[in-house]
Amino acid sequence: NATDVIISCMSLGIMVTMNQRLDAEIITLVTDEFGYNVEFVGLDLEEMIQDDKDLEENLKTRPPIITVMGHVDHGKTSLLDHIRNTNVIAGEAGGITQHIAAYSVECINNQSITFLDTPGHEAFTAMRARGAQVTDIAIIVIAVDDQVMPQTKEAISHAQAANVPMIFVFNKMDKPNAKSDKIREQLANLNLLVEEWGGKYPSQEISAKLGTGVDKLLEKVLLLSELLDLKSNPNKPAVGTVIEASLDKGRGYITTMLLQGGTLKVGDYVLAGINHGKVKNILDERGKSIHSAGPSKPITILGLNGAPTAGDKFKVFKDEKLAKQLASRREQLQREQNIRSQKHLTLDEIGRRIALGDFKELKIILKGDVDGSVEAISDALQKLSTNTIMINIIYKGVGQITESDVLLASASDAVIIGFNVRPNNGSKNIAKKEDIEIRTYSIIYNIINDLQEAMDGMLSPEI
Ligand code: GDP
Repeated sequence: NATDVIISCMSLGIMVTMNQRLDAEIITLVTDEFGYNVEFVGLDLEEMIQDDKDLEENLKTRPPIITVMGHVDHGKTSLLDHIRNTNVIAGEAGGITQHIAAYSVECINNQSITFLDTPGHEAFTAMRARGAQVTDIAIIVIAVDDQVMPQTKEAISHAQAANVPMIFVFNKMDKPNAKSDKIREQLANLNLLVEEWGGKYPSQEISAKLGTGVDKLLEKVLLLSELLDLKSNPNKPAVGTVIEASLDKGRGYITTMLLQGGTLKVGDYVLAGINHGKVKNILDERGKSIHSAGPSKPITILGLNGAPTAGDKFKVFKDEKLAKQLASRREQLQREQNIRSQKHLTLDEIGRRIALGDFKELKIILKGDVDGSVEAISDALQKLSTNTIMINIIYKGVGQITESDVLLASASDAVIIGFNVRPNNGSKNIAKKEDIEIRTYSIIYNIINDLQEAMDGMLSPEI
């Protein structure tokens, strides 16, 4: 008990009180006295810096953070360009010219919206695979002169897997004979009913080229974000997520990040992933120096000692020493982890866990060579679900197993099943790094059989 520990400390010449934290050295000495060995795990410091829960009264409404996704050539870039060029902050001359990974625009009633302009769902999923979720709403762009395409479906799956609400945009309405009902129908076939058809998904017809409908779209974004009741506490040291980082020859490391809570000021000491440093300069999306920035604001900072990875969390520290200590601790952990890379679930592991009774949902990404077989396999697999174990096919599609599939699997802890398709080299490498299991088959019966066995908790390891 505490008294014994205090007496033991005193006998070692260390005066302590009940509420004091002991350092590792003292803990080792004391436990030794009691005949125990101590094993230090790396998480204690991380736990110390966990965010305290914000009190309700300190929360203020914050702008929504949006990611635009969709099939190639359906108009994502055109839409973002239009928004960026027309919705400049009042009094500002000119829009944002160069590429910037995140920016905020001001629209009706001075309300702002933050856009993440990273290359579509690749970045979205890569960030999520690292445990970072920054998007509040996903805009899914579909061109009405085309149809719901594989990448559209992929984007939808990514948003759904992340539990991010979607707004559908029907683009290219200026085209002759443009008809959006065909797209609404295709969405309905995917169980996605838009509001006009009595469903829950907002949608908007636009022409990104002419700009028609974009204002209405932004209104719907604001309306949805009001419903989502997005709030954070601006009056605390800043926390957020890294979006992009690079090395600039003249200025050193440049880190673009999104503030999710608190206010960041020049001079603050920041820890971001394994990097740290004093904020020398804060730039807004126009490259202008600002003194401070608040929630949902995308900013670029100078002053870190390296380039953190997209998706890394950052936090301001009053105690510079603690920040440095944490950074080096993380670096060490990262090195160890690279050796002992994180274990994702394999079918064998799932089988083992089912046998232990602590498994409820088996997530699968299914890729195949033709639509017919993908559907057939998907139906057969879903029928395997029982009262206690659910088979959840979080994404299915036709084609090679891509990097994006592997990232989705990593973010969602899913197993990838390929039927008559293989992973390309890039996805093989990522799968190896992320420890994602890819099983390929050419006989449907074998897939069903393996899954059935995994569900029975007795799958023998694949050689
Ligand atoms: P992304 O690949 O999704 O970023 O698509 P882009 O924005 O690059 O657009 C692909 C092509 O479609 C470009 O040639 C655009 O000019 C064209 N485009 C985009 N939006 C519209 C639109 O509303 N109407 C018409 N007619 N063309 C558009």
